[in-house]
Amino acid sequence: MNETPKGNRIHIAIFGKRNVGKSSFMNALLGQPMSIVSATPGTTTDPVEKAYELQPVGPVMFIDTAGLDDEGELGNQRIKQTEIVINKTDIAILMIEHTSDGVFEKNLMNKLSELKIPTILVLNKIDLVSDEELKNIINVYNNQNATIYPISVMLNKGIEEAKKALIKHIENKQPDPPIIMDLIKPGENVVLVIPIDKEAPKGRLILPQVQTIRECLDADISCTVVKEKELHHTLTHVLKQKPKLVITDSQAFLKADADTPSDIMLTSFSILFARQKGDLNTYIKGVKHVNKLKNGDKILVAELCSHKPITEDIGRVKIPRWLRQHTGLNLIFDFAVGAKPTFNPNDYALIIQCGGCMVTRTLIMNRINDLQKSEIPVTNYGVLIAYMHGILKRALTPFPSALMEFENESN
Ligand code: SF4
Repeated sequence: MNETPKGNRIHIAIFGKRNVGKSSFMNALLGQPMSIVSATPGTTTDPVEKAYELQPVGPVMFIDTAGLDDEGELGNQRIKQTEIVINKTDIAILMIEHTSDGVFEKNLMNKLSELKIPTILVLNKIDLVSDEELKNIINVYNNQNATIYPISVMLNKGIEEAKKALIKHIENKQPDPPIIMDLIKPGENVVLVIPIDKEAPKGRLILPQVQTIRECLDADISCTVVKEKELHHTLTHVLKQKPKLVITDSQAFLKADADTPSDIMLTSFSILFARQKGDLNTYIKGVKHVNKLKNGDKILVAELCSHKPITEDIGRVKIPRWLRQHTGLNLIFDFAVGAKPTFNPNDYALIIQCGGCMVTRTLIMNRINDLQKSEIPVTNYGVLIAYMHGILKRALTPFPSALMEFENESN
C-alpha cells in the first residue's frame, strides 16, 4: 500500500452555485488541473475527488462538487450527490460571487454549521466589482461572523491567502482518536492474530491490519504478527515477556479467546476501529437491544461501500444467520449500501453499521448522530460479533468506559 488510505485523509469540499468558479479555484489551489472547467453552468455533474499532499499538513482529499442550486431531474441528482459530500466533509470552502443575493449561501452555511463543519468563505471574481461593492459584500458576511477571502481566479489574486486560511483550519482540526497508541506504552508488546484464509487477499493484508501495524511502529510499540494456529505456541514458547494486548480478527475470536490467558487483554481489530471510526459506547448501548428484539422485527445492515466478498459475506450472510441463531427469532433483514442511503430509520428495530474501513470518521459520526435523533439503536459488525460469541465483556477490558456501559443494567 503506497498511498494514505482515503478514510485517513481530511476531506475538503468546495461548494457554491453553478459557475461561480469552483473548479477553476480548485485547480489554482492545487496548481494542477482537477476538474472539467467550463463557462456553461452545471458542467461538473458528479463530485470529483482528488487525493493530494498539501504541504505542510499532509494527505488530504479535495472534493469538487456540483452546484447545489440546480433545477430539473439532473439538478435533483446533483443536489443529492452534493448532500452526500456534505456528510463526509471535514472542512468546507463555500464560494460566492457578487451577483448572488446571498440566500442560497446562507442556507448552505446553516447546513454546514448544523453539522459543525468549519467553513471558509471565498468571494470569487473580484476583478468584476468596484472597491465600494467589495467592501459592502465583505461587511454583509462579516456581520454573519464569517471571514471572507476575496479572490480572482482569473487574475490569480488572493489564492495564497485562501490557501493559508485552509491550512490553518486543517492544523486546528481535532485529530481522529488513535487505534491503540493510547492503550499501550512505547516498548510494550502486542500480538496481532491474522487468519490467512480464502478471504485474505493474496500477498496483502487488509486495511485495519496494516493501519494497526503502522500505528505500532509510529508509537514504538513492539508487535508480533501470527496466524490463529500459532497464537498459543507464541504466547507460551516464543515470547519471553507477556504481551499487553492480543488483537484478533473477529473470525478467530473464539480460538483467540481460548488461547489467550485471562491476565492478557484481548480485543479485535473491529472493536479498535469501532472506537476509532465511530462511537464505541453508542454501539454498546445498541447491541444491548439484541435482547429486546421480537419476532418479525426488521433489522437494517448498513454497508458503506459495495464490495465483492470472496466467500460468505459478513454483513449479508453471516451476521443475519448468527443473529437469527442467537435470538431464535424470525428477523427480517434489509441492506443499505452507500454514504447516504435512503431509508426510514423508524422502520427498524436495530441498525448494524459496517466497520467503515473505507470512509472517514466524520461520515460515520454524522450517521450515528442522525440515528440518535431518531432514537434508533445502532451497533456495528465487530461489537455485535463479539456479543454473539459471548466474549464482548472480555473484548472491552481495554476500554473501561465502554465496559461500564455494557455492564450498566439500566439501559
Ligand atoms: S467494512 Fe464497510 S467500508 Fe469497509 S469494505 Fe466493508 S462495507 Fe466497505
